[in-house]
Amino acid sequence: MSTAFPWHDAAWRRLQQQQRGGRLPHALLISGAPGLGKQALAERLAAQLLCRQPDEAGACGRCPACHLIAAGSHPDIRHITREDDSRVIRIDSVRQLTEFMAMKSQYGGYRLGLIHPADVMNTNAANSLLKTLEEPPPGAMLVLISDRPSRIPATVRSRCQQIPVPVPERVEAVAWLEQTAPELARRAVAMLPLAGGAPLQALKQAEAGIDQRLQDLGAQLDALATGRSQPADVAAAWPKDELPLLLDLLPHLIHQLIRQQSGAQAEGIVPQAASGLRASALHEYLATVYNYRALAERSLNAELVAEDLFIRWHRICRQAA
Ligand SMILES: [Zn+2]
Repeated sequence: MSTAFPWHDAAWRRLQQQQRGGRLPHALLISGAPGLGKQALAERLAAQLLCRQPDEAGACGRCPACHLIAAGSHPDIRHITREDDSRVIRIDSVRQLTEFMAMKSQYGGYRLGLIHPADVMNTNAANSLLKTLEEPPPGAMLVLISDRPSRIPATVRSRCQQIPVPVPERVEAVAWLEQTAPELARRAVAMLPLAGGAPLQALKQAEAGIDQRLQDLGAQLDALATGRSQPADVAAAWPKDELPLLLDLLPHLIHQLIRQQSGAQAEGIVPQAASGLRASALHEYLATVYNYRALAERSLNAELVAEDLFIRWHRICRQAA
């Protein structure tokens, strides 16, 4: 059986209504933040469409079609994603998919193509999808999945029905985490702000020990603020291949400080020693971090960037002291 997440309910109900009315479009774009289970939603729908005895909740999980899906060998569904060593989905992959979609369904039902993440199709790949979107073969359904739908060319996007997956209310996310992963729930809940409220992302981060890393980084910022540590040492201790993590965790901590300064309730970990900083200095610092983050897809010298960030932090703390 496919996984059903409670925050998918509204989107799922809408899809069911369309299906009952025979109005299911031939192309969907499932979008939303990372860690909301968008692929699971696509797979749940695909399984339901291919199942021999589906109900409103999805596929039956027992029929021959469901067994084939579970084994990854149903002939009427195909996924494409980027290949191991590539950052993009290339035209060859999309062409193979569109050729697959153009063939007759083996079981006389739908023929499904899933593209994930759809925003990494390069321009040629996206263009080669247009014909299938404009003149869909009978029974064909394309499901695009993306965290960053704005990066998909408008020509493709406009031909898909958008299915936005919302971030659940905090109370719903907490309840789900407590039920799904009782041992990790407390730590995962603490990760919710960093995860943008996305429960699966928060759980993944807790499993990876990111909460501890965040705590450590907060302590390092404090040590720099009080002069107990030097920027070069802190930078040298940060693993070189983890610059992206630093560029995610730093803004989170700075945001918490800004929230605290503006009188709002900060959530989770907040550097303590830095509470006397000017808001303008914090905003300026945040801009620097975001600048680096925008560049991070190119090859930056991780050690130099980390050092620069810790030096700047050290400097604004010294100026405030
Ligand atoms: Zn079934």
